[in-house]
Amino acid sequence: MTEPFDILISGGGMAGAMLAHQLLQRGSLKVAVVEQQADASPSKSSFDSRSIALSEGSIGLLKNWGLWPLLASYASPIKTITVSDQGHFGKTYLQSSDYQLDALGQVIEVEHIGAVLHQRLQPFEAQGRLVWFRPDAISAITPSLDLQQVQLKSGLSVSCRLLVIAEGGASPSRELAGFALQSDDYGQTALIANIGLQGPHQGKAFERFTPTGPLALLPLTQQRYSLVWTLAPERAAQLMQLNEADFLAELQKEGGYRAGVFQKAGARALYPLVLRRASEAARHRVVLLGNSLHNLHPIAGQGFNLALRDIYSLVLLVQRMQATQAKSFQLGDYAFTRAYQQLREPDMQQLILYTDALVRLFSNSSRLIAFGRNLGLSGLNNCSALKSQLAHFAMGLTPLRHIEQRLQQLGLAAPVRQSEGA
Ligand SMILES: Cc1cc2nc3c(=O)[nH]c(=O)nc-3n(C[C@H](O)[C@H](O)[C@H](O)COP(=O)(O)OP(=O)(O)OC[C@H]3O[C@@H](n4cnc5c(N)ncnc54)[C@H](O)[C@@H]3O)c2cc1C
Repeated sequence: MTEPFDILISGGGMAGAMLAHQLLQRGSLKVAVVEQQADASPSKSSFDSRSIALSEGSIGLLKNWGLWPLLASYASPIKTITVSDQGHFGKTYLQSSDYQLDALGQVIEVEHIGAVLHQRLQPFEAQGRLVWFRPDAISAITPSLDLQQVQLKSGLSVSCRLLVIAEGGASPSRELAGFALQSDDYGQTALIANIGLQGPHQGKAFERFTPTGPLALLPLTQQRYSLVWTLAPERAAQLMQLNEADFLAELQKEGGYRAGVFQKAGARALYPLVLRRASEAARHRVVLLGNSLHNLHPIAGQGFNLALRDIYSLVLLVQRMQATQAKSFQLGDYAFTRAYQQLREPDMQQLILYTDALVRLFSNSSRLIAFGRNLGLSGLNNCSALKSQLAHFAMGLTPLRHIEQRLQQLGLAAPVRQSEGA
């Protein structure tokens, strides 16, 4: 048995490693990460060949956290987004200049985020403020009033004041900690790959709804697109078997030529799509983070943006706890975990409803529904107020303001974001 850690994070992937970095930036917290993978860098399974779209709100957080300058050269800005329905009249178009912005978001390969976090976490490990347990996993959790007692599969016993579960969508510790889970299999698979283009993409992103499922092309560095193609599992498996030229021909057929001529396809990977959400974000001395809390369909590209807001909420609460030192508001106690629950619930609820409705609306081949959604897309394109709402949603600025307002309502006024730099 070691000295209690302040915070024990189970899962050193995108959400867990990012949280560890943020916590170690401030004050003297002692943090441990349990990761099932042996690799010395943040988990390879989380930081794989995927690319993700980061909203303007998320970029703002990464800037304030001192990480964006290290990531910016790997990112490609989204200047315009075209949403269309294959073979139908409906279309809507958003461009950053309409909102006096350089970009509506940025697209980045997650392996670069992993490499930067790995480099930034090393000094904390050397100072003994960060301890990795890997390869390892939690086998039992025993709560007591002041601490969580955690048994690891390696036989080690550790304790902490707050346990953060960030093990991704299939988290086993979530169940060990007593959280109930709602799960809904979409019966769809996302096929992802990086696609090389004949000409420049000029920062254009496309979301195209096809009878086989939504197909998103996001602008990447080096004249490439990041492809996320949602398909029936059988069709996805067929596409995985094709050689590069045949795969590109199929993609061109479904995606059309508006996005350009596809020349190369990088490694393809499949992700089965399941909507999972935990019934609560927090229990006694334990909180859920990232995909362990909410595992969304990638159609709207919002999963990690939402996880960054989980991290932001938790970090604000830690800062508040450090600033007040009030007995009634301590790391992991009832007031702390309840405040996290209250900060996360509305944001999560709204995004799950929105994403789920989008998946069901655009995966439906009924003619009547197709007609309705095309009317909607055209209407949206002609109504600047609605378009502006959609753009603000994509930019992800409003939920950050809501977190800060909610914190004020809870009597835990938010510190000024500009002073948060690393
Ligand atoms: C195809 C696709 C496209 C996407 N596009 C976008 C996008 O454009 N924008 C966006 O914001 N989001 C996007 N997302 C979502 C984003 O990838 C997730 O939100 C993000 O990966 C969540 O990170 P996480 O750390 O919570 O989970 P994960 O990435 O799953 O990491 C979990 C970590 O926990 C470890 N682990 C698992 N079990 C245990 C255990 N028992 N003990 C210890 N460690 C364990 C794993 O090894 C891993 O390191 C996309 C997702 C997919 C699938």
